[in-house]
Amino acid sequence: MYKIPRDYYFRENEMEKEKGGKIKGIKIRTINYAMIIAAAVLYVVLVYATVQASIKYKRLIEATEDYILCEKDAALVREGSDYLTEQVRLYVVTLEPEYMEAYFTEKNVTRRREQALEELEEYETSQETYDYLQRALDNSNKLTEREIYAMRLITLAQGYDEASLPEEMKGVVLQEADKNLSSQEMVDRARSMVFDYGYRNAKELIMSNTDYFLDSIIKWTRNKQSESAMVLQNIMNRQRECVVVLFVLNAANFILVIMLIIKPLQVYIDCIKEEKRLEITGAYEFKYLALTYNDIYEVNAANEVLLRHKAEHDPLTGVINRGAFEQMREVLKASTDPLAFLIIDVDKFKLINDCYGHEIGDQILKKVAKHLSDTFRAQDYVARIGGDEFAVIMTNSTRELQPVIQNKVESMNQFLKKPDDGLPPISLSIGIAFSDKGFPEELYRQADRALYQVKENGRCGCHFYDE
Ligand code: GH3
Ligand code: MG
Repeated sequence: MYKIPRDYYFRENEMEKEKGGKIKGIKIRTINYAMIIAAAVLYVVLVYATVQASIKYKRLIEATEDYILCEKDAALVREGSDYLTEQVRLYVVTLEPEYMEAYFTEKNVTRRREQALEELEEYETSQETYDYLQRALDNSNKLTEREIYAMRLITLAQGYDEASLPEEMKGVVLQEADKNLSSQEMVDRARSMVFDYGYRNAKELIMSNTDYFLDSIIKWTRNKQSESAMVLQNIMNRQRECVVVLFVLNAANFILVIMLIIKPLQVYIDCIKEEKRLEITGAYEFKYLALTYNDIYEVNAANEVLLRHKAEHDPLTGVINRGAFEQMREVLKASTDPLAFLIIDVDKFKLINDCYGHEIGDQILKKVAKHLSDTFRAQDYVARIGGDEFAVIMTNSTRELQPVIQNKVESMNQFLKKPDDGLPPISLSIGIAFSDKGFPEELYRQADRALYQVKENGRCGCHFYDE
């Protein structure tokens, strides 16, 4: 009898425990989580680095823009100062009052120099840098006192109406030596004041102040740029590292997918095509599936054997049943090998049932089946073809075996007539027919006729059908 190799109805957790203990392998789930976490961390770092890079890049641009604006401010201070110089010189040379007016418009209304300083306060510069331009403005303002004094001399020499003069002019106090000068001397003095070495020196000082300012701005901008560029370089290095790690992670992912999923799937498909048990390979989950599949495969295979056995065998005696016997007859019809066919009937079996009961009758039937199976060769087929009727097909057997069969029948009857197992004695009647080629249609009838002969002749024995 076949046994199902495993309890089909294993409780789930027991199965889990058993398989969990057996399986050693990498879990796809674990790898997946690890990959997700690693990728998420790397992407966060990458996004952070990108944001930082764009901030630093903006700072770099801003530093350059600030430099341009500061340069413009320095130019404004210079232009303002030069314009004042130009107007005062034109005035003292041409004595045209419109130049004096232009001078004061620049100084008090347009105010390019002051505006440049005001603008500078809005930009991000160092105090030192700011101070340079402030010094340029202070020196320029100091020079305006000299210029206004020169223009005052001209107005006095020209005899201007005092009331129409700007406030700054009215407030000028003449030095004692200048009060007594003639008109021409006053004009000469004024001209020398804005053209002499002292004036040019003061102008150069203003220019050098703005030059210092520009140098300082360049230094400050360079510092800013190199600081931002360094940080930018670091960020880009980190980005490059992240991309490399991401690439490695991706490559590892591809390899793991191939090793743990694609390859095992191919192996499983091959196993299924070849109707084999699955190979335990790949990731933990695949190994688990393979073990489960193999368990079901085994149970199914066992069930199939069991079902086929049930379909082909007699449940009481365990030998081949009538259905399977008929199938075998059909198959053997085409055979070319010789065979011997025996029909065996228990004598007076009805009486056994009547005297000892059906249960004892059943035990007798089992005993006969076992005895027949033991008596004949493994290559012969023993079948139960009716109530107390059995059949034996002896494969590859010719008439030469007649004495051997005769002996077998006699020894069986001897054994069954003197039982030592407490069951009632019985005997068998057996009809035998031979065929030179397979199982022809008439062979059954011939054996049956031979059996009839035995019954007619007093039972307990055998008869060989002879044409
Ligand atoms: P004979 O010598 O002429 O064969 O006489 P017999 O009494 O054996 O007559 P027959 O072979 O016709 O009787 C077969 C009997 O077998 C009839 C039936 O009650 C009995 N039988 C059939 N199947 C079973 C079974 O499964 N168990 C038991 N105990 N008896 C069965
Ligand atoms: Mg009988």
